[in-house]
Amino acid sequence: MDDEALPFTLPRCDSCDKPAVVEQAYSGRILCGKHLAKSVRKKISKELRLQLPLEKGAHTTVLVAVSGGKDSAVLLDVLVDLLGKRPDVTIVAGTVDEGIEGYRPPSILCAASLCERLGVDHHVVTYPELSFVEMDEVVKRLPLVAQKDNDAPRMACSYCGVFRRQGINHLATKVGADVIALGHNLDDMAQTVLMNVANADIERTLRLAPHTTTPVNGLAPRIVPLRWVPEQEVHLYALHRNLPLHHEECPNARGALRWRHREMVAHMEADVPGTRHGLVRMADQIKALRDEVVALGGGDSRPSAPTPCPRCGSPSSGHQCKACDMRDLLGVAFD
Ligand code: SF4
Ligand SMILES: [Zn+2]
Ligand SMILES: [Zn+2]
Repeated sequence: MDDEALPFTLPRCDSCDKPAVVEQAYSGRILCGKHLAKSVRKKISKELRLQLPLEKGAHTTVLVAVSGGKDSAVLLDVLVDLLGKRPDVTIVAGTVDEGIEGYRPPSILCAASLCERLGVDHHVVTYPELSFVEMDEVVKRLPLVAQKDNDAPRMACSYCGVFRRQGINHLATKVGADVIALGHNLDDMAQTVLMNVANADIERTLRLAPHTTTPVNGLAPRIVPLRWVPEQEVHLYALHRNLPLHHEECPNARGALRWRHREMVAHMEADVPGTRHGLVRMADQIKALRDEVVALGGGDSRPSAPTPCPRCGSPSSGHQCKACDMRDLLGVAFD
Protein backbone atom coordinates (compact mmCIF):
# COMPACT_ATOMS: atom_id res chain seq x y z
CA MET A 1 0.00 0.00 0.00
CA ASP A 2 1.47 3.41 -0.87
CA ASP A 3 1.24 6.40 1.41
CA GLU A 4 -1.56 8.02 -0.57
CA ALA A 5 -3.83 5.08 0.08
CA LEU A 6 -3.36 5.20 3.85
CA PRO A 7 -6.62 6.14 5.58
CA PHE A 8 -4.65 8.17 8.14
CA THR A 9 -4.86 11.96 7.83
CA LEU A 10 -2.58 14.30 9.72
CA PRO A 11 -4.38 16.43 12.26
CA ARG A 12 -4.76 20.05 11.18
CA CYS A 13 -4.31 23.24 13.18
CA ASP A 14 -7.68 24.49 14.46
CA SER A 15 -6.66 28.08 13.66
CA CYS A 16 -5.24 27.86 10.15
CA ASP A 17 -5.64 24.29 8.86
CA LYS A 18 -1.86 23.75 8.46
CA PRO A 19 -0.43 20.40 9.68
CA ALA A 20 -0.48 20.36 13.49
CA VAL A 21 2.56 19.85 15.72
CA VAL A 22 0.68 19.42 19.00
CA GLU A 23 -2.67 18.25 20.34
CA GLN A 24 -3.33 19.81 23.73
CA ALA A 25 -5.38 17.17 25.55
CA TYR A 26 -5.78 19.56 28.50
CA SER A 27 -7.39 22.31 26.39
CA GLY A 28 -8.79 20.40 23.40
CA ARG A 29 -6.81 22.58 20.97
CA ILE A 30 -4.77 21.38 17.98
CA LEU A 31 -2.04 23.76 16.79
CA CYS A 32 0.54 24.20 14.04
CA GLY A 33 4.07 25.45 14.85
CA LYS A 34 3.19 29.09 14.24
CA HIS A 35 0.02 29.10 16.31
CA LEU A 36 1.65 27.08 19.08
CA ALA A 37 4.45 29.68 19.24
CA LYS A 38 1.83 32.42 19.38
CA SER A 39 -0.02 30.70 22.23
CA VAL A 40 3.21 30.03 24.19
CA ARG A 41 4.24 33.66 23.84
CA LYS A 42 0.80 34.84 24.94
CA LYS A 43 0.85 32.63 28.06
CA ILE A 44 4.31 33.88 29.02
CA SER A 45 3.38 37.50 28.39
CA LYS A 46 0.23 37.23 30.53
CA GLU A 47 2.13 35.57 33.37
CA LEU A 48 4.91 38.13 33.13
CA ARG A 49 2.44 41.01 33.57
CA LEU A 50 1.19 39.33 36.76
CA GLN A 51 4.58 38.36 38.15
CA LEU A 52 6.62 41.40 37.15
CA PRO A 53 4.66 44.58 37.71
CA LEU A 54 7.02 47.27 36.38
CA GLU A 55 6.73 50.49 38.31
CA LYS A 56 6.65 53.76 36.40
CA GLY A 57 9.88 55.74 36.80
CA ALA A 58 11.78 52.80 38.33
CA HIS A 59 14.48 50.78 36.62
CA THR A 60 14.38 46.98 36.87
CA THR A 61 17.27 44.59 36.27
CA VAL A 62 16.21 41.02 35.57
CA LEU A 63 18.73 38.21 35.94
CA VAL A 64 17.69 35.28 33.74
CA ALA A 65 19.20 32.01 34.94
CA VAL A 66 20.26 30.22 31.75
CA SER A 67 21.59 26.67 31.56
CA GLY A 68 21.88 26.01 27.83
CA GLY A 69 18.73 23.85 27.98
CA LYS A 70 15.42 24.50 26.27
CA ASP A 71 13.49 26.05 29.18
CA SER A 72 15.85 28.87 29.97
CA ALA A 73 16.55 29.42 26.25
CA VAL A 74 12.84 29.97 25.60
CA LEU A 75 12.56 32.15 28.70
CA LEU A 76 15.41 34.42 27.61
CA ASP A 77 14.22 34.56 24.00
CA VAL A 78 10.69 35.60 24.98
CA LEU A 79 11.82 38.05 27.69
CA VAL A 80 14.14 39.81 25.23
CA ASP A 81 11.30 39.90 22.73
CA LEU A 82 8.79 41.31 25.23
CA LEU A 83 10.99 43.59 27.35
CA GLY A 84 14.29 43.97 25.49
CA LYS A 85 13.50 47.36 24.00
CA ARG A 86 12.23 48.96 27.21
CA PRO A 87 14.61 51.61 28.53
CA ASP A 88 13.50 50.89 32.12
CA VAL A 89 14.45 47.19 31.97
CA THR A 90 17.90 45.57 31.75
CA ILE A 91 18.09 41.86 31.04
CA VAL A 92 21.25 40.00 32.10
CA ALA A 93 21.86 36.25 31.82
CA GLY A 94 23.73 34.13 34.35
CA THR A 95 24.89 30.52 34.45
CA VAL A 96 26.12 28.48 37.39
CA ASP A 97 28.85 26.02 36.37
CA GLU A 98 28.49 23.04 38.73
CA GLY A 99 31.57 21.27 37.40
CA ILE A 100 29.99 18.27 35.67
CA GLU A 101 32.34 17.06 32.95
CA GLY A 102 30.79 16.22 29.59
CA TYR A 103 27.50 17.91 30.52
CA ARG A 104 28.02 21.47 31.66
CA PRO A 105 30.80 22.69 29.29
CA PRO A 106 28.79 22.12 26.07
CA SER A 107 25.64 23.57 27.64
CA ILE A 108 27.52 26.73 28.65
CA LEU A 109 28.57 27.12 25.03
CA CYS A 110 24.90 26.93 23.97
CA ALA A 111 23.92 29.50 26.60
CA ALA A 112 26.74 31.81 25.52
CA SER A 113 25.79 31.50 21.87
CA LEU A 114 22.13 32.30 22.63
CA CYS A 115 23.14 35.37 24.66
CA GLU A 116 25.36 36.55 21.84
CA ARG A 117 22.55 36.13 19.35
CA LEU A 118 20.15 38.08 21.56
CA GLY A 119 22.71 40.74 22.56
CA VAL A 120 22.49 39.91 26.30
CA ASP A 121 25.42 40.08 28.76
CA HIS A 122 26.28 36.62 30.09
CA HIS A 123 27.95 35.93 33.46
CA VAL A 124 29.19 32.54 34.67
CA VAL A 125 30.15 31.52 38.21
CA THR A 126 31.79 28.20 39.07
CA TYR A 127 31.41 26.17 42.28
CA PRO A 128 35.10 26.59 43.22
CA GLU A 129 34.63 30.38 42.90
CA LEU A 130 31.94 30.02 45.56
CA SER A 131 34.16 27.77 47.72
CA PHE A 132 32.19 24.64 46.84
CA VAL A 133 33.76 21.55 45.33
CA GLU A 134 32.76 20.67 41.78
CA MET A 135 29.87 18.21 41.49
CA ASP A 136 32.08 15.50 39.94
CA GLU A 137 34.10 15.63 43.17
CA VAL A 138 30.94 15.66 45.33
CA VAL A 139 29.78 12.46 43.61
CA LYS A 140 33.15 10.84 44.37
CA ARG A 141 32.97 11.84 48.03
CA LEU A 142 29.36 10.74 48.63
CA PRO A 143 30.11 7.13 49.72
CA LEU A 144 32.59 8.47 52.28
CA VAL A 145 30.11 11.06 53.54
CA ALA A 146 27.50 8.30 53.99
CA GLN A 147 30.00 6.25 56.06
CA LYS A 148 30.77 9.24 58.27
CA ASP A 149 27.18 10.42 58.77
CA ASN A 150 24.22 8.14 58.30
CA ASP A 151 21.79 11.06 58.04
CA ALA A 152 23.74 12.90 55.33
CA PRO A 153 21.89 13.38 52.04
CA ARG A 154 22.70 10.54 49.62
CA MET A 155 21.81 12.18 46.36
CA ALA A 156 24.12 14.46 44.40
CA CYS A 157 21.19 16.77 43.59
CA SER A 158 20.55 17.49 47.29
CA TYR A 159 23.96 19.18 47.44
CA CYS A 160 23.80 20.67 43.96
CA GLY A 161 20.38 22.27 44.55
CA VAL A 162 21.65 24.12 47.64
CA PHE A 163 24.93 25.18 46.02
CA ARG A 164 23.26 26.32 42.83
CA ARG A 165 20.76 28.47 44.73
CA GLN A 166 23.70 30.27 46.30
CA GLY A 167 25.32 30.57 42.89
CA ILE A 168 22.25 32.27 41.46
CA ASN A 169 22.02 34.60 44.46
CA HIS A 170 25.71 35.43 43.98
CA LEU A 171 25.11 36.32 40.32
CA ALA A 172 22.04 38.37 41.25
CA THR A 173 24.09 40.43 43.73
CA LYS A 174 26.92 40.80 41.22
CA VAL A 175 24.70 42.26 38.48
CA GLY A 176 22.45 44.18 40.91
CA ALA A 177 19.35 42.21 39.93
CA ASP A 178 15.96 43.23 41.30
CA VAL A 179 14.34 40.02 40.08
CA ILE A 180 15.56 36.54 39.14
CA ALA A 181 13.72 34.79 36.28
CA LEU A 182 13.81 30.99 36.27
CA GLY A 183 12.79 28.72 33.39
CA HIS A 184 10.58 26.27 35.32
CA ASN A 185 7.88 24.91 33.03
CA LEU A 186 4.46 23.47 33.97
CA ASP A 187 5.82 19.94 34.38
CA ASP A 188 8.65 21.13 36.68
CA MET A 189 6.22 23.11 38.81
CA ALA A 190 3.72 20.23 39.07
CA GLN A 191 6.54 17.84 40.10
CA THR A 192 7.67 20.24 42.81
CA VAL A 193 4.14 20.64 44.17
CA LEU A 194 3.66 16.86 44.25
CA MET A 195 7.02 16.36 45.98
CA ASN A 196 6.09 18.97 48.61
CA VAL A 197 2.67 17.39 49.16
CA ALA A 198 4.20 13.92 49.53
CA ASN A 199 6.57 15.42 52.09
CA ALA A 200 3.85 17.36 53.91
CA ASP A 201 6.06 20.39 53.32
CA ILE A 202 3.73 23.39 53.62
CA GLU A 203 6.65 25.71 54.29
CA ARG A 204 8.20 24.96 50.91
CA THR A 205 4.83 25.24 49.19
CA LEU A 206 4.45 28.72 50.65
CA ARG A 207 7.93 29.64 49.47
CA LEU A 208 7.36 28.36 45.93
CA ALA A 209 8.04 30.93 43.18
CA PRO A 210 6.66 33.28 41.94
CA HIS A 211 7.53 35.51 44.88
CA THR A 212 6.01 38.67 43.49
CA THR A 213 3.25 39.05 46.06
CA THR A 214 5.18 37.47 48.93
CA PRO A 215 8.85 38.44 48.61
CA VAL A 216 11.25 36.44 50.75
CA ASN A 217 13.11 39.20 52.57
CA GLY A 218 16.75 39.71 51.72
CA LEU A 219 16.65 37.87 48.40
CA ALA A 220 15.78 39.05 44.91
CA PRO A 221 12.32 37.58 44.24
CA ARG A 222 12.10 34.70 41.80
CA ILE A 223 9.65 34.78 38.92
CA VAL A 224 8.68 31.79 36.77
CA PRO A 225 6.95 33.11 33.64
CA LEU A 226 6.91 29.66 31.91
CA ARG A 227 4.96 28.02 34.70
CA TRP A 228 1.81 27.37 32.65
CA VAL A 229 3.65 26.13 29.55
CA PRO A 230 4.03 22.32 29.35
CA GLU A 231 7.53 20.98 28.80
CA GLN A 232 6.67 19.54 25.40
CA GLU A 233 5.43 22.92 24.19
CA VAL A 234 8.54 24.70 25.49
CA HIS A 235 10.57 22.23 23.45
CA LEU A 236 8.49 22.73 20.30
CA TYR A 237 8.73 26.51 20.70
CA ALA A 238 12.53 26.27 21.03
CA LEU A 239 12.70 24.18 17.83
CA HIS A 240 10.32 26.56 16.04
CA ARG A 241 12.59 29.50 16.94
CA ASN A 242 15.70 27.47 16.11
CA LEU A 243 17.33 28.31 19.44
CA PRO A 244 20.78 26.82 20.18
CA LEU A 245 20.02 24.00 22.65
CA HIS A 246 21.89 21.46 24.67
CA HIS A 247 19.74 18.32 24.81
CA GLU A 248 21.64 16.07 27.22
CA GLU A 249 20.37 15.31 30.72
CA CYS A 250 22.72 15.74 33.66
CA PRO A 251 24.30 12.31 34.40
CA ASN A 252 23.22 12.66 38.06
CA ALA A 253 19.55 13.37 37.31
CA ARG A 254 18.31 9.79 36.92
CA GLY A 255 18.78 8.67 40.49
CA ALA A 256 17.11 11.79 41.87
CA LEU A 257 13.71 11.82 43.53
CA ARG A 258 12.53 14.38 41.00
CA TRP A 259 13.07 11.86 38.23
CA ARG A 260 10.47 9.52 39.80
CA HIS A 261 8.03 12.39 40.29
CA ARG A 262 8.58 13.34 36.69
CA GLU A 263 7.35 9.92 35.59
CA MET A 264 4.46 10.02 38.05
CA VAL A 265 3.24 13.42 36.87
CA ALA A 266 3.55 12.34 33.22
CA HIS A 267 1.41 9.22 33.91
CA MET A 268 -1.18 11.19 35.85
CA GLU A 269 -1.41 13.80 33.09
CA ALA A 270 -1.81 11.09 30.41
CA ASP A 271 -4.63 9.50 32.45
CA VAL A 272 -6.33 12.73 33.45
CA PRO A 273 -5.38 15.70 31.26
CA GLY A 274 -5.17 18.87 33.31
CA THR A 275 -3.56 17.23 36.36
CA ARG A 276 -0.44 19.40 36.07
CA HIS A 277 -2.51 22.58 36.01
CA GLY A 278 -4.47 21.30 39.01
CA LEU A 279 -1.34 20.67 41.06
CA VAL A 280 0.07 24.13 40.38
CA ARG A 281 -3.29 25.78 41.06
CA MET A 282 -3.45 23.96 44.37
CA ALA A 283 -0.16 25.50 45.46
CA ASP A 284 -1.50 28.92 44.42
CA GLN A 285 -4.62 28.33 46.51
CA ILE A 286 -2.60 27.37 49.57
CA LYS A 287 -0.62 30.61 49.17
CA ALA A 288 -3.83 32.62 48.68
CA LEU A 289 -5.30 31.05 51.83
CA ARG A 290 -2.21 32.07 53.77
CA ASP A 291 -2.59 35.64 52.46
CA GLU A 292 -6.25 35.68 53.57
CA VAL A 293 -5.32 34.49 57.04
CA VAL A 294 -2.66 37.19 57.25
CA ALA A 295 -5.13 39.84 55.99
CA LEU A 296 -7.61 38.77 58.71
CA GLY A 297 -4.94 39.46 61.29
CA GLY A 298 -4.10 35.81 61.80
CA GLY A 299 -0.41 36.55 62.11
CA ASP A 300 2.20 36.42 59.41
CA SER A 301 3.01 32.82 58.67
CA ARG A 302 5.58 33.82 56.10
CA PRO A 303 9.11 32.65 56.81
CA SER A 304 10.86 35.20 58.99
CA ALA A 305 13.49 37.43 57.41
CA PRO A 306 16.73 35.48 57.05
CA THR A 307 19.79 36.44 59.06
CA PRO A 308 23.27 36.24 57.53
CA CYS A 309 25.06 32.91 57.97
CA PRO A 310 27.90 33.45 60.47
CA ARG A 311 30.36 31.71 58.17
CA CYS A 312 29.57 32.77 54.62
CA GLY A 313 27.10 35.66 55.02
CA SER A 314 24.39 34.00 52.91
CA PRO A 315 20.80 34.35 54.07
CA SER A 316 19.94 31.62 56.59
CA SER A 317 17.35 30.94 59.27
CA GLY A 318 19.42 31.81 62.32
CA HIS A 319 22.22 29.24 62.28
CA GLN A 320 24.89 28.31 59.82
CA CYS A 321 23.37 28.05 56.32
CA LYS A 322 22.61 24.77 54.58
CA ALA A 323 25.43 25.22 52.08
CA CYS A 324 27.96 25.54 54.92
CA ASP A 325 26.50 22.39 56.57
CA MET A 326 27.06 20.61 53.29
CA ARG A 327 30.58 21.97 52.92
CA ASP A 328 31.28 20.45 56.36
CA LEU A 329 29.76 17.11 55.39
CA LEU A 330 31.91 17.00 52.29
CA GLY A 331 35.01 17.94 54.29
CA VAL A 332 35.67 21.12 52.37
CA ALA A 333 37.79 23.81 53.96
CA PHE A 334 36.00 27.14 53.57
CA ASP A 335 38.11 30.18 52.85
S1 SF4 B 1 20.53 17.02 37.95
FE1 SF4 B 1 21.22 17.25 40.06
S2 SF4 B 1 23.49 17.21 39.92
FE2 SF4 B 1 22.73 17.57 37.87
S3 SF4 B 1 22.74 19.80 37.63
FE3 SF4 B 1 20.67 19.22 38.32
S4 SF4 B 1 20.75 19.37 40.55
FE4 SF4 B 1 22.88 19.37 39.81
ZN1 LIG C 1 -2.00 27.25 12.62
ZN1 LIG D 1 26.94 29.71 55.12
